[in-house]
Amino acid sequence: MGHPCLRTPAEDYPIDDIGTAQFETLIEDMRDTLHAYGGIGLAAPQIGVGYRIAIIEIENTQTRYGEVEYTPFDVYINPLVTCIKEGQAGYWEGCLSVPGMRGFVERPQHIRIDYLDQSGNSSQKEVHGFLATVFQHEIDHLDGVLYVDRIKDKSLFAYEQEYLQFHAGPEPAPEPKNCV
Ligand code: ZN
Repeated sequence: MGHPCLRTPAEDYPIDDIGTAQFETLIEDMRDTLHAYGGIGLAAPQIGVGYRIAIIEIENTQTRYGEVEYTPFDVYINPLVTCIKEGQAGYWEGCLSVPGMRGFVERPQHIRIDYLDQSGNSSQKEVHGFLATVFQHEIDHLDGVLYVDRIKDKSLFAYEQEYLQFHAGPEPAPEPKNCV
């Protein structure tokens, strides 16, 4: 946080460049970073690349969040979010770009993503619940927005230790999720 790249709206990724060696290297770098930090999502500006590309992968569907769906690794190029149904919910979000912190953010819970997949095909995906929060967190990065901007009640912005001590209980205790 503080790096201008995180605050600059990213540019559309050129469709003709999808599938090039440069593209594959970028996706590999993003995937390595995601795995190195144990996150579930990452946006290109987080590694200093100002293009509209996000990746999401949720392999470990930790059961304390009943709503977390297994989501195999995928690449979302030039994604757009459309709200398809009313309904907001809040989760404690975390971010690789804001290390050691958690914040409670409410977002729409029923959305559609229109994007290009990693072969350059137009695709659509409807997502709900916590997964909708994950997608919006990542796509915010492409607009230069951080989750901290969306914390309405600033008393719900905390160091991880205080989050665990004061906000994560009693039950079901939500596991902090790294939407890096
Ligand atoms: Zn993030």
